[in-house]
Amino acid sequence: MTTISLLPEVQAFLARQHGHYIDGRVIEGQGSRIAVINPASGQQIASIADATNEDVDAAVASSRAAFRGAWARTTPAERGNILLRLAELFQKHREELAQIETLQSGKTIQLSRGFEVDQAIVFLRFYAGAATRINGETISPSLPSLNGECYSAFTRREPVGVVAGIVPWNFSIVIAVWKFASALVTGCTSIIKPSEFTPLTMLRVAELATEAGAPAGALNVLNGAGSAGRLLIAHPDTSKVSFTGSIPTGLAVAHSAIDSKLTRSTLELGGKNSVGFLKDVSVDKTVSGILEAGFIHQGQICAAGERFFLHRSRIDEVLEKVASALAELKIGDPLDETTQFGPLSNKVHFDKINGFFKQARSEGNAIIYGGEAIDRPGYFVKPTVIRVDTARASLLNEETFGPIGTFLAYDDEEELLNLFNDTPYGLSASLWTNDLGKTLNYVPRIEAGIVWVNMHTFLDPAVPFGGIKSSGIGREFGSAFINDYTELKSIIIRH
Ligand code: NAD
Repeated sequence: MTTISLLPEVQAFLARQHGHYIDGRVIEGQGSRIAVINPASGQQIASIADATNEDVDAAVASSRAAFRGAWARTTPAERGNILLRLAELFQKHREELAQIETLQSGKTIQLSRGFEVDQAIVFLRFYAGAATRINGETISPSLPSLNGECYSAFTRREPVGVVAGIVPWNFSIVIAVWKFASALVTGCTSIIKPSEFTPLTMLRVAELATEAGAPAGALNVLNGAGSAGRLLIAHPDTSKVSFTGSIPTGLAVAHSAIDSKLTRSTLELGGKNSVGFLKDVSVDKTVSGILEAGFIHQGQICAAGERFFLHRSRIDEVLEKVASALAELKIGDPLDETTQFGPLSNKVHFDKINGFFKQARSEGNAIIYGGEAIDRPGYFVKPTVIRVDTARASLLNEETFGPIGTFLAYDDEEELLNLFNDTPYGLSASLWTNDLGKTLNYVPRIEAGIVWVNMHTFLDPAVPFGGIKSSGIGREFGSAFINDYTELKSIIIRH
C-alpha cells in the first residue's frame, strides 16, 4: 500500500473553521462560506470565509501599520533572518504542508513535497540572501560650481508600501512565497489573496511566519473569491499589486490598479508556450522532452509547453511513442506516492478542459491519445495529444492550462521560428537541438520571457521569470524583482 495516511495535525487543521490571517491572528471571518473541495474525490474538506469590506479594511490597516512601524524598524539582516527561520519551519512542517496542498489541489504528494515545499525553501533562502543587497548607487553630478560648492548625489531603493499578492490555484505555496518574500525583503508588507480553490496552505504558512518572528501585519492572508482581490486593489492604502493568473483577469487587475490612484501592478499571466524540436534530436529525447514540457502537474503550469512543433519526417514516430508513454503513466489518487498524474485541480477547470476536448473533435483535429474524462470520482482526465494541420487551429492558439499537447509538423527551420512567435503571448519557450551555432542564432529570435534549451519548465531563483507580449509585465525573482517592489528616490546634496 503506497497511499499515505494523513498526519493528525493535518486532520486537526482541516477541522478548524477557516477564514483569514490578519495582524498575527487567525480570523474566522463573517463573510459567506466558500467550500474547499478535494479534486481527487469531489468531496468538501473544509471551507473558508469570503472577505468582506471590513476584513479588507482590517487587513490593509494592519499591513499599513506594520509598514510604518514594526517592519520599518527591522534591519535588512533581520528581515533575511526571519525568512531563514521560516525556511527551517517549512522543513520541519514539510509533510504537513505537502498533505494540505495535495488535498486542496490534487497535486501528487511527491510534487507537493518536492516542488511546492522544497522549492519554496530554496526561494525563501534566496530572498533571505537578497535582503542585505538592496541598494541604490552613488552619482557624481555635473552641476556648475560658481562659488566653490560641490555636489554629491545618491539614490535609495525605498519600499513601495503595502503589496497585495494575488495568487492562482496551481502553486499555492511557491507562487505566494515569490510574492511575500519579495515584499518583505524590500521592506514592504504583504497581503496574500490566495485562490478561492486553494486557500488553506497560506493560512498555515502565515502562522509559521509569525512563529519565525514576522511581526503582526508583515504578512496577512485575506481569503475569498475575485471580489476580495478587487476590494484589495481598490483600497487607497494598497500601493502595489503583484498578480499571477489568467490574462483576462490580469487585464481587469491592471485597469482597476490604474483607476485606483495609479497603483503599481506587475502581472504574471498565462500564454501558449512553444516547444520546437530540431531534426538532430533523437526520438527518445524528443519524447521525454515532450513529457517534461507539457504534462507535469497535469499541464497546470503557466510555463508548460502547449504548442509543439516537430519536423514532418519525425512527427508520426514521435507521436506514437508519446502516446505509449502517456498510456504508461500511473493515474490515480494523488496521496498515493507512486501516482504520476492526478486530477485537475477543480471542477471549473475540469469542465473547461472537457470543453477543449469537444472543441478539438468538432474542429476535426486528430486526437492521437486521450481526449476524454476518466470515469471515476473527482476531476480526472486523460493526458491528451492532438495533431493539427494548420497553425490557425484554435487548439494551437488558446491556452488550455491542462494536459493537452497540440502538435504541428514543420518543414524548415525558418518556418519553425515563425511558428514559435506566431502567438500574441510570450511567457516561455523551449528549443531542442544539439547544434550550438543554431542555438545561439535562434534564441535571440524567439519571443519569450524565458527560453529553455534542451529543457523546459524548471525555474531557478537566481534567474528572472516573467512574460513579454500579452503574457505579463514585470519579473519575479532574479535581481529584477527589486525594481518592481521599490521606488527609486534620488538625493542631491550641495556641500
Ligand atoms: P484567475 O485569473 O482566474 O485567478 C487568479 C487570482 O485572481 C485568484 O486568486 C482569483 O480569486 C483572483 N481574481 C479573480 N478575479 C479577480 C479580479 N477581478 N480582481 C482581482 N483578483 C481577481 O487564474 P487561475 O484560474 O487561478 O489560474 C490559472 C491562470 O494563471 C492561467 O492562465 C495560468 O497561465 C496563469 N498562471 C500564470 C503564472 C505566471 O507566473 N505567469 C503562474 C501560474 C498561473
